Amino acid sequence: MTATDEWRAEAIAHSTGASLLQTFLNDLHNRFQPLRDGKVADYIPELAKADPNWFAICIVTTDGRIFEVGDADQLFTIQSISKVFVHGLALEEHGRDFLLTKVGVEPTGDAFNAIILDEVSKRPYNPMVNAGAIATTSLIKGSCPTERLNRMLDMFRRYIGHDIFVDIATFMSERTTGLRNKAMAYLMQHFGMIDSRVDEALDLYFQQCSLMVNCRDLAVMAATLANHGINPLTGDRAISECYIRDILSVMYTCGMYNYAGEWAYRVGIPAKSGVSGGIIAVVPNQIGIAVFSPPLDKRGNSVRGVAVCEALSQHFGLHLLDSSMGCQKFLDMLN
Ligand code: GLN
Repeated sequence: MTATDEWRAEAIAHSTGASLLQTFLNDLHNRFQPLRDGKVADYIPELAKADPNWFAICIVTTDGRIFEVGDADQLFTIQSISKVFVHGLALEEHGRDFLLTKVGVEPTGDAFNAIILDEVSKRPYNPMVNAGAIATTSLIKGSCPTERLNRMLDMFRRYIGHDIFVDIATFMSERTTGLRNKAMAYLMQHFGMIDSRVDEALDLYFQQCSLMVNCRDLAVMAATLANHGINPLTGDRAISECYIRDILSVMYTCGMYNYAGEWAYRVGIPAKSGVSGGIIAVVPNQIGIAVFSPPLDKRGNSVRGVAVCEALSQHFGLHLLDSSMGCQKFLDMLN
């Protein structure tokens, strides 16, 4: 074989692996598009406007390749998926030890909006439920609300690779109806877990939830986590590598709310969902996965999103604890 033949053989294998993945994604999309289970969230009135048929799947590899099918350009608000990245920012700004005095890392087994704190420490249980996320957001540094918002936007821009904007209608919708979140924030102020700028913390939390993304953006963000904190498309560092472990651990144990245990058992990769219908999942060193489909199950996770992630994990052997399977081989397959 000449060098050119070798190169050509490699290129064909590469494109075969890649087209196999693309075909698999197309099949998944066809298989799960008819699924009619679940309900679009309406407790935030703006979210009720989502079309239940929207459905996108996107995978971004740590070497920067993008595979997508469906409504990958459809914009929607990031909602709870933002919690992962704001947790990262708070870790960078305050360090692990201080953050642990304000927010735990314990799964709750309760709904994402439960009004509960740890009875002894009075901390919210973890940064992935609303109480913990509001406490985390309240720690973001800056001399005024605009500076804090801008720090957050800068952070998200590094993960996504382009500018990102708050959807004002969703922000206002959350701000005027989010009474549970307000109740939790004031309870946490009572116990000294957040300082007196409660309304500013809530506004920033509602703004982070109202950031507009599409499914491809989410997959790039997930791939950045898979790629040790470096955005695989831009080459920019979004977060210090030393905190990736913290972020992924909390996603793994708490990211899917009161489905987190079953998710870890069935799918076996760190993930996070949001009430607008997005799910991100991270296969370290390999890929970032994102699925978007608004109808949710009772726990607030996208029905099609869960189904797609389960199928991907099973088909490619992505479960992190499955030593016999080929999650390490994922990129090899594409190469
Ligand atoms: N903004 C939403 C809320 O605070 C986020 C919840 C979610 O996505 N699970 O209720």
